[in-house]
This record gives sequence, structure tokens and C-alpha cells, in this order.
Amino acid sequence: MLTIVMYHYIRNLKNSSYPRIKGLQLEDFDGQLDYLQRHYCFVELEQVIAASRNRVELPPNACLLTFDDGFSDHYEYVFPRLKERGIKGAFYPPVKPVLENTVLDVHKIHFILASAENPGGLIKDIFELLTPHRQEIDLPNDDELYRLNAGKSRFDPPEIIFVKRILQVGLPEWLRNTLVAELFNRHVDRDENEFARELYLSSEQLKEMVRAGMAIGVHGYSHRWFNSLTVEEQTTELDLSLSFLNDLYGKRPEDWTVCYPYGGYNEDTLRLLEERNCALGLTARVALVENYSTPLLLPRLDTNDLPKNGAARANEWTLRLR
Ligand SMILES: [Zn+2]
Repeated sequence: MLTIVMYHYIRNLKNSSYPRIKGLQLEDFDGQLDYLQRHYCFVELEQVIAASRNRVELPPNACLLTFDDGFSDHYEYVFPRLKERGIKGAFYPPVKPVLENTVLDVHKIHFILASAENPGGLIKDIFELLTPHRQEIDLPNDDELYRLNAGKSRFDPPEIIFVKRILQVGLPEWLRNTLVAELFNRHVDRDENEFARELYLSSEQLKEMVRAGMAIGVHGYSHRWFNSLTVEEQTTELDLSLSFLNDLYGKRPEDWTVCYPYGGYNEDTLRLLEERNCALGLTARVALVENYSTPLLLPRLDTNDLPKNGAARANEWTLRLR
């Protein structure tokens, strides 16, 4: 059994400009590394690829750490800690923010939520911004829109889910982009280019991580749901991501892996990946890896599924290994 853990923001939240960002506090990351070191055996991506081909057997309680979205947090805080402990992680940066210094809408939404006084005010803003567009497109009324988009999730209350869903999927793409840009100006009020340089890793940082043995994989060019794209669009996303990997590694890496943005994929995605000899795919399904019958669909745990304190007792996910 293999445990793959997924991380996003990891930072000193308490002392940051955006303490309300939903991320992992740095001490908690240290605590979780202590916990994992006590109960698991860290493996690197290459070993997992070899195991998926039946070439090696992973040690008992094998654990792989994965870091999504290419945040500069991963260079500043994660990289030194992994080096110190001799751990090799796998990192999945979307390409566009790194190369074009733009902020992805999904991250703008996080900073809008972290900057706004409360989600209630944001929801009012959203309905207000939608009003002038009601003549152009057929939209359900406000209550119905709320009902359609607010919902349950593992980690967020319904109002937050509403803001995230309506801005991520609940409206036509052009309208979502317009709303997110306006809300980002209103609530975050930062120059996007400068903000992107602070928020994301640079190519130079990624190259340094590669030289130190960290693995970098494909997370799409512009971080869109693969299952919402045409075959041509998916092909472009994958091929631009692969040429970015070429650049980071100085050659096409022999084995490469993908982590699906938002966990989204469809039959076309899997076929395109197979045609390009993708070794492994990481989803957002919450489970342990019990076998490699579908190497392109490996499940992961979220950091929040595991204790964040080195002294904590083995939790349910750890006990399942026994
Ligand atoms: Zn992502």
C-alpha cells in the first residue's frame, strides 16, 4: 500500500499578509513531516513508477509527498525542509503563471475570499456584478443560482462553496473571468504581474529543485478542467506542459507524470496520456493506492487527512496500513 499526500499552500500564515488563506501553517507542516517520518517510509516518484511496472517492491508504509500549483511556498519553505530530511517530493506547477506572470483565477478566488470581510458581502457583490449581464444571457435568479452552486464539501461551509463554484464553473467562462477580475481589483487590489511573481515559483527555482532530485510533473498549461476541454484543447495543454518539462530538465524526461487540475479528466485525457507514454496520473480521489491496475488514476490523501503533530497517535489512514 502506498500513501500519496497532496499539499497546496504551505506558509507562515499567521504572519503573512493573507492569514485567512486556506493553507497549511508552517509548524503544522513540520509536525506532519515528523508524524510521517515516524509512521511511514518516504519514497520518491521514480520508485513509485518502477513499482507500478512491477520492477521493484516499495517498502512497507511507503509515502510520497506531492505539491500542487507551483507556489513559491514550495521553494521557500518546502524545498529546504525536504532536503534537510532527505525526502524527494513531486511538484506539479501549472505553466502559464510561471511563464507569463499571471495569477490563475482559481488562486485569485482564494485571495478574494481571504481579503473580503465576509462571504456574505462577496455573495452580494457577485449578484450585483451579474445584474447588468442578465440581459445578455439567460441566468437563473439569485436564489436559484445560490441553490445550484452552494453545496457540501469536506472542508468548506456552503457560502464559501457558493463563491468558489460560481466563479470556477457556475457561469460561462468569459463571465467568470470578468467577475473574478473585478472582485480581485476590489478586494485584493494588487498589481497582477507583481503578485504572480510573489505567488509562484520561477523557472530558475524549478530548475534548482530538479538538480536537487525533486520531480516536476505536468499540471496543465492554464490549470483548466481537462474534462471540460475539447480534444484539441487538451492536446495543447499537455504538449505545452511537456515542452515546459523539457526546458526544466534540459531534455524530455524519460518518465513523466501528470496531476489533473481539480482532479478532472475524461476518456480523451487518458488516451492522450497513453499515446504520450505518461507513467502515472494523480487524481484528487481520497484513498490509499492498493495496486497499480490503473496507473493513470492514483488516489491521494489531503494533508488535512493526516495528523499535524509528530507525537499524534496513528489515525485511521495510518491504521489501515497494519
Ligand atoms: Zn491545481
